[in-house]
Amino acid sequence: MTHLELDSVTKVFGDPSTDGVVAVKDLHIDVPDGEFLVLLGPSGCGKTTTLRMIGGLEDPTEGEVRFDGTVVNDVKARNRDVAMVFQDFALYPHMTVRENLGFGLRREDNGMSADEIKGRVTEVAEMLEIEELLNNKPAQLSGGQKQRVALGRAIIREPRLFLFDEPLANLDAKLRKTMRTEIDELQSKVGITSAYVTHNQEEAMTIADKIAVLNDGQLQQLGSPDQVFNEPTNLFVAQFVGSPDMNLFDGTITDGGDAYRIDMDLLSFDVPKALVDAEITTEDVLVGFRPQDLYQARNRATDGPEFDTDVRVVEPVGTEAIVHSTSLLGDVTAKVGNFHDIEPTDQLSLTIAPEHVYLFDAESEA
Ligand code: ADP
Ligand code: MG
Repeated sequence: MTHLELDSVTKVFGDPSTDGVVAVKDLHIDVPDGEFLVLLGPSGCGKTTTLRMIGGLEDPTEGEVRFDGTVVNDVKARNRDVAMVFQDFALYPHMTVRENLGFGLRREDNGMSADEIKGRVTEVAEMLEIEELLNNKPAQLSGGQKQRVALGRAIIREPRLFLFDEPLANLDAKLRKTMRTEIDELQSKVGITSAYVTHNQEEAMTIADKIAVLNDGQLQQLGSPDQVFNEPTNLFVAQFVGSPDMNLFDGTITDGGDAYRIDMDLLSFDVPKALVDAEITTEDVLVGFRPQDLYQARNRATDGPEFDTDVRVVEPVGTEAIVHSTSLLGDVTAKVGNFHDIEPTDQLSLTIAPEHVYLFDAESEA
């Protein structure tokens, strides 16, 4: 049970006075007891470094890491009582599953008898449904089974924190989905505060209580999956979260009292200010439409803009289709239902409700 805090944490590799690499910059993250935090961002943005500083494998250059209000910067990794799961599973190849699971308990001075350790190993093996594998060596296991053992090794000690670094990256897509559900369930069941690193936004959205979106070592947004998706604070977050990618078009904005007047090529419409989450300081803006927020105008009327497109490709995905088309605004991607009569070269009229329009400063960097 741990309340985890990162307070102004910075990590510079190499010599900071010359040409050090700033891997993490002035990071503030607060994870209440029992919460599941996901660190999300592209490769090289500082996720692993952040996780390693939480685990004590890397020293912050500046700032504090705190567990329940106590600074742990000087506490060695092995004394932090955290359990880490990595993408390469890191099982001991010469040990059986049973030995791999029990290793942490046997090594610790925890006063547990051999029988108690055996009981705990069995309990965890049952929880993860790997009882029948207890006498196997890692080489005899599939990727998913290895990952279960790695998870088992993490939860067997009931640590203060779980730290996961892309634990599913080496699994195939189907297994990745199953395992992420299992990790989610397991974490809720044991209630241990967790930090989980991934570059996969879908994984982050499904598993997190809270997501910290990082770019270039800096926190872009800390919020619930719903907040980062629906109320992205900047263009980077808006583009990184959500699939297919958000459509972005150039526009200009004028203040119309309670609403912003948006002018785009051949389109003008109003967006109530109360619905705009990003801070707008420029007249030139980027106007964002998520593919799933676009509707076929023939099916649904909105107060928002309506525009004609020429369909290029229709990609069915179950009950909906991703439609790529060309418009006067530029290329548009829409995710729509009732798509069976839409063919390439057709004209398709699309519309969006004003409350689903995203606005960003044109200068903001993606
Ligand atoms: P991520 O896990 O998000 O892919 P990392 O935390 O591994 O990112 O890396 C962040 C940045 O720090 C990268 O530019 C990386 O090259 C650099 N970096 C990471 N570890 C080291 C190290 N031990 N020495 C020097 N630079 C490092
Ligand atoms: Mg990494």
